[in-house]
Amino acid sequence: TQKDIATPIRTREILRKYGFSFKKSLGQNFLIDANILRKIVEHAGLTKDTGVIEIGPGIGALTEQLAKSAQKVVAYEIDQRLFPILEDTLSPYDNVHIIHEDILKADIQQMIQTKFTESTEIMVVANLPYYVTTPIIFKLLEENLPIRGIVVMLQKEVADRISARPGTKEYGSLSIMIQYYTLAETAMIVPKSVFMPQPNVESAVVKMILREKPAVEVKNESFFFQVVKMGFLQRRKTIMNNLAGGLPGGKSKKAEILAALTAAGIDSGRRGETLSVEEFGVLSDALFEEFG
Ligand code: SAM
Repeated sequence: TQKDIATPIRTREILRKYGFSFKKSLGQNFLIDANILRKIVEHAGLTKDTGVIEIGPGIGALTEQLAKSAQKVVAYEIDQRLFPILEDTLSPYDNVHIIHEDILKADIQQMIQTKFTESTEIMVVANLPYYVTTPIIFKLLEENLPIRGIVVMLQKEVADRISARPGTKEYGSLSIMIQYYTLAETAMIVPKSVFMPQPNVESAVVKMILREKPAVEVKNESFFFQVVKMGFLQRRKTIMNNLAGGLPGGKSKKAEILAALTAAGIDSGRRGETLSVEEFGVLSDALFEEFG
């Protein structure tokens, strides 16, 4: 049997055979460490009934390990130069399906309905292209997909923001958006040396398990997210001042804003970065009638 794809030797061999050159603009940093891959697969908790959606299979390093543990893997790859390579490297696995599409343009809901009829649960597992990390995660969460969770490699700096708690400097609208939909944690920090070529930044694997219901029940989701963004408009300002600056007509409606803050039980002198997801939820509901 052949060696794993994710070794420096086999990866170089494959790249040379096909004359493949990395495209930085597509975030191409391939994993060459089988140990790290095993850990990613472990964190995803796959079973023989799990369907896996992968984003950016590259030359198949992670795809191969996923195929060994899961029921089926459907992988989206944008770079057509990789298609013949993947056909070759993944030929031993009959439970892998590659889709030649930009994940941001894909109809994932439709794909799930046709490709995962035999899976009892679905996980997204990927070593993400770093130039589109947050658009990809938002797409996955906002489309209300029937997935159990998302386990992905991304920039450590983004991982820190995703798992951040209120009151820390990493805590921001990204933390809240993701913690609203999921229970998120950083599963491990990953050094640059396990990639080829090595990225400029440290990496981390983040595990996001979807909540059965969002963290807080709100009257209007898009208004909630607007209020969250306002809360962080200027970090040094109070929630009162940021809302006055961000809400339509807010400058002349300070009394109404103050009343909403009071109704929500939030001191008007606090900074937005100290509010929990739940507090932002209660606050956005209190503001909704006047400003929504
Ligand atoms: N999974 C492989 C590995 O771990 O070795 C490769 C990971 S590499 C960090 C990211 C991959 O995503 C590349 O293969 C790249 O071509 C692909 N990619 C970049 N943008 C994409 C997009 N918008 N949709 C789908 N794939 C994309």
